Amino acid sequence: MDKTEQKLPELEFRNETIKSLVSRLTGKDVLIVTDPFNYPKVKDAGRCAVAPDNRCEQIPVIKSGPFYERVIAVGGCAALDIGRACAVGKSIIVVPSILSTSCISLDRSVIKYGGVNRLEKTQLPEKVIICMPDLMDMPPAELEKWCQSGFGDLFTMAAASIDIQHKKGDLSIEAVTGNVGECFKAIEWVINDFDGYNETSVKALARFLHDSSLVVVVRDDSNLNAAGEHLLYHSLLRLNPQYTSSRPTHGQIVAAGTLIAAAIYREQTGNARILEAISKAFKKLGLPLTYDELSKAGIEKRHLQEGLSDIKHLGSHLGDYFKTNDFGILDRVFSA
Ligand SMILES: [Zn+2]
Repeated sequence: MDKTEQKLPELEFRNETIKSLVSRLTGKDVLIVTDPFNYPKVKDAGRCAVAPDNRCEQIPVIKSGPFYERVIAVGGCAALDIGRACAVGKSIIVVPSILSTSCISLDRSVIKYGGVNRLEKTQLPEKVIICMPDLMDMPPAELEKWCQSGFGDLFTMAAASIDIQHKKGDLSIEAVTGNVGECFKAIEWVINDFDGYNETSVKALARFLHDSSLVVVVRDDSNLNAAGEHLLYHSLLRLNPQYTSSRPTHGQIVAAGTLIAAAIYREQTGNARILEAISKAFKKLGLPLTYDELSKAGIEKRHLQEGLSDIKHLGSHLGDYFKTNDFGILDRVFSA
């Protein structure tokens, strides 16, 4: 389809539960794709496929079942990724149950082939619906953990923009901030207006994640939301089998990479604006800023050193730096 004809999804906030929403939207031609956690909420609404993770093997199995024309994907990123992959050429509504990563409104999915995650084009959702009661019913510590992760993932756009400009050979602050104005607006919002993980900040986060997803869709360029910090994430997960999907969170890991990239940017350009803004925002959000805080999240200094060594050859702003520099910058960033 011509990009200009592409109808972008709207983000809707509903004051009803996932259970009630899905039973209202369902029909004979609907396939519900969800995860084990949300399955009890939607199992009575119609035909369900349960996707516990994002492994590719599930897709042909789900697609070969009875005919369906519409998909409702309910859950965290894996369920939304598999839902979008099963909806190619059909229509899909996504109902994110947590806001832990910037995947919610994308037209692509992260799918695992063998042991390797690959980002591939799938189906743009028709609508993205957030059921506020389900989100606000989460225990406060859980809500904080997952929303903090979502903010961490959102701000990787700053590092991704540095990465793009590094490759273009123009690290001017105008170019770096200009690529991802939405992200810097979100950082400003956190610094000035964030006052805890409450309904207002949950809605603001959903809006930011949605808008940043659409930037990727419109520009057709996923390089804008994932660069060296995501390479570091994948490397750390591979090198540290003790890392789980909830400790450290995706957002905590990529936030550490973003902070290092912003510190490298400061050393390369003498401009501290991005590092300062990101540090202020992280402080308010409770994202790790020191070795101590990283360690509490399960991330040790030696993990970062091993991960950064591991991504040196992969061609990113973050990795390239460590081809010719030692790890001294880590102490300059994380030694409180
Ligand atoms: Zn991410």
